Amino acid sequence: MNEIESEARVESEAQVGPVISNIHTDTFCESCGYNLHTQAVVRDERLGLLVCRCPECGRWAAAGLGTSASRVWLNRFGTLLLIGWVLVLLVVFGLGTLFMGMLPYGYLMSFTRWQQFEVPAPGMPGQHMIIYRYTLQDVPPADSQAASDQRTGRTIFMCVATALAAVVGGLHSVFLWHARGRWRVFAFAMPLLACLGTWVIWNADRETVDLRQWAVPRIALFFLLELLGLSLGLLAGRPIVRGILRVLLPPKPRQHLAFLWTVDKKRLPI
Ligand SMILES: [Zn+2]
Repeated sequence: MNEIESEARVESEAQVGPVISNIHTDTFCESCGYNLHTQAVVRDERLGLLVCRCPECGRWAAAGLGTSASRVWLNRFGTLLLIGWVLVLLVVFGLGTLFMGMLPYGYLMSFTRWQQFEVPAPGMPGQHMIIYRYTLQDVPPADSQAASDQRTGRTIFMCVATALAAVVGGLHSVFLWHARGRWRVFAFAMPLLACLGTWVIWNADRETVDLRQWAVPRIALFFLLELLGLSLGLLAGRPIVRGILRVLLPPKPRQHLAFLWTVDKKRLPI
């Protein structure tokens, strides 16, 4: 908010009260027909009435019916819905992070086989013990069907990881549209967390001891792929969703989702 805007707000709050709520339903300005949905509701100190100002023409309108401030149970229901929504977001982004970590793990596993070895038992001369280790599979001849299948499988892992990250980035740009500037950095925490998790779990496994160094550049590759996908999703998410909504929704209900346009300083197509 710039200085002029904040001064204007201070001035308008001095005349009427502080913002109490927002218009929660479609309410149209009597003067110009602008939809006041989401506009701030204030209490007029002199009259004690809830009012809302049209941002388009400046006319004041009674707002007692368009807000839930005066309806306790509606307010509580709204709070409950908000908590539910936060939980949905946590599950969506939590699962996204989990799968972004499972894909590089699966990729690493596709190179390995599980082998048993007989080694001298420590402290017991002449005795042997069996240990299990992951080792690299033998590389099939380059022109064989097996080599081609392996390449296809590994390419699929990489493509799915990139695509998943793009979807997560797109969901982030739509659901967390209010995250701007440095708050957007949290989006990149997801692939970071996922790949760090893969690295920690891979290293914690005793049976991968011979492949720890080998795994590092491969996990890093997935981290880069997921960063790329996530960035694409963040950039393209809202434009794609706007396009879909334009096709699926007529203009009036689309106004409920006006934030998807206004956040990018676009006018809602009417
Ligand atoms: Zn108006």
